[in-house]
Amino acid sequence: MKKIYSFILLVVIIILFFRDCSIKKKEINIISNPNSLDVLVNKFNKLNSEYIPSDLILMPLKNSNKDKYLRKEAADNFIKLSNDASLLNYKIIIASAYRSYEYQTNLYDDYKEKYDFKYTSSCCAQAGFSEHQTGLAIDVMGSNNDYHKFDESQEFNWMINNCYKYGFILRYPKGKEKITGFKYEPWHYRYVGVKLAIFLHQKNITLEEYHKKKEIK
Ligand SMILES: [Zn+2]
Repeated sequence: MKKIYSFILLVVIIILFFRDCSIKKKEINIISNPNSLDVLVNKFNKLNSEYIPSDLILMPLKNSNKDKYLRKEAADNFIKLSNDASLLNYKIIIASAYRSYEYQTNLYDDYKEKYDFKYTSSCCAQAGFSEHQTGLAIDVMGSNNDYHKFDESQEFNWMINNCYKYGFILRYPKGKEKITGFKYEPWHYRYVGVKLAIFLHQKNITLEEYHKKKEIK
């Protein structure tokens, strides 16, 4: 009798062990298409630590803070956006753009030292899980020179109503925190290409919702 109980217990342990492994495997996917303009990087989709985009270019100082790099297509479109905004006397410039795996590691460690885990994970991605490593994500600031308060700048409404025409989307909108896994970030935009940005804008959906729909199809 004792033997039967031991056997059942062993089977249960084995089942639980393998179930746990498969859940873990499902949770984090290593991205296989990092160069794709619609690449989804979030808490469940990780970039390889070696990934560095091959077409990064230095942003002009007219449109950006010092030493900011973006992938060529995103850079060209942001320059257009920023120059068009300046014709209306708006100032929209890049405060942060491409960030390497190593840079993100240090940034995350700094947050972890200053804040608790919950706050840190709601606003700072771990290395590999940050869109900034794609060279397609930007943090912008307006004429109030404070990117955290970009939504209080005179430029914010123009940006929200026009960025999709240049291929950018507000990546972490208000009310979609549970879907994106990030708190509202009025300063963070992501280049996805003009066609997809128009589509996402019209449907009012996030990149996560778009990829979920693609999976179902
Ligand atoms: Zn950002």
